[in-house]
Amino acid sequence: MSVLVYTEPHHGKISKNATEAASYASKLAALLGTTATALVCGEASDTETLGQVGISKILQVASEGISQFDTQKLSKAVQEAVRKEMATVIVFSHDFSGKAIAPRVAAKLQAGLVAGAVSLPDTSNGFIVKKAVFSGKAFAHVSVTSEVKVISLLPNSFSVEKTGGTASIESFLPEIGKAGVVVKEIRKESTKLSLTEADLVVSAGRGMKGPENWGNIEELATLMGAATACSRPVADIGWRPHHEHVGQTGLAIRPNLYIAVGISGAIQHLAGVNGSKVIVVINTDAEAPFFKAADYGIVGDAFQVLPKLIEAYKQFKASNN
Ligand SMILES: Cc1cc2nc3c(=O)[nH]c(=O)nc-3n(C[C@H](O)[C@H](O)[C@H](O)COP(=O)(O)OP(=O)(O)OC[C@H]3O[C@@H](n4cnc5c(N)ncnc54)[C@H](O)[C@@H]3O)c2cc1C
Repeated sequence: MSVLVYTEPHHGKISKNATEAASYASKLAALLGTTATALVCGEASDTETLGQVGISKILQVASEGISQFDTQKLSKAVQEAVRKEMATVIVFSHDFSGKAIAPRVAAKLQAGLVAGAVSLPDTSNGFIVKKAVFSGKAFAHVSVTSEVKVISLLPNSFSVEKTGGTASIESFLPEIGKAGVVVKEIRKESTKLSLTEADLVVSAGRGMKGPENWGNIEELATLMGAATACSRPVADIGWRPHHEHVGQTGLAIRPNLYIAVGISGAIQHLAGVNGSKVIVVINTDAEAPFFKAADYGIVGDAFQVLPKLIEAYKQFKASNN
């Protein structure tokens, strides 16, 4: 019996989501009186991070012939690793890859799946996992009764704890065979910060009046090292690219800071951002619904507030250098 966590390097490094999942897996292994192994699909220069969060063994799969988008091949690799390690709990991050691979693995292994877990299971009487439901508006406590269990952890819902250990590394060559789908080419749409992984997000809506006015949004985001996002109508009318659209029908994100400029705060928008740790709203209308969800609010015109905010941030940075 052991716990297996799936990790996938991004730009040659173990991602923040993968580190959270690994920390969760090692805590879970301690709870179950066993150890945690990480399956690393692709090369990462910082695998020591996994040992530091309590992983005892790394199964390293070489990146050749298996890409991040080969979900069929990757799910076969996970199944092989499960057999090798005799894993009974498999942990993923509930990110793009986890959402694609975890259900396949669960179906193949006839395992119960908890998608979007937010805390460690309660094992005092069975195996009960808390998960977010209804776009984060409520929580469900799910009892998993199957022998093998699959959990995907909601990003930014579990604090990483560095325990200071080291993990042994073993190279792993899973028997993957042929996949029904072959990834022929991958073209990156942008070199910008990934919205789903970003700690800080500056987002804007129809209150910006037109695409030519995004300069201040971009400048603030660049200064802060934040990703940019937008409301759905803004993407629908082509002011911003669709991959920036957040909400019920767009991306669901959980950054530490979400700054919403000229966005009314419709429920469909909130559905994708209400898991953010701190929400700041800038809006001319004091009655805008977003203020009810905000931690901090500025009632004011974005065209006056943003330049002042940028100036203040520059001064703050200069005084902290
Ligand atoms: C099935 C369905 C799914 C949907 N999914 C999504 C989704 O995933 N994501 C999403 O975002 N929407 C979604 N919507 C649309 C949603 O209902 C809202 O219409 C949309 O979020 C509104 O976008 P907005 O806030 O940018 O625009 P508006 O509602 O037009 O709001 C603009 C805001 O800007 C403020 N403002 C105006 N001028 C200024 C200024 N100078 N400075 C500061 N503030 C200013 C206004 O007071 C207003 O509050 C969905 C709708 C449906 C029916």
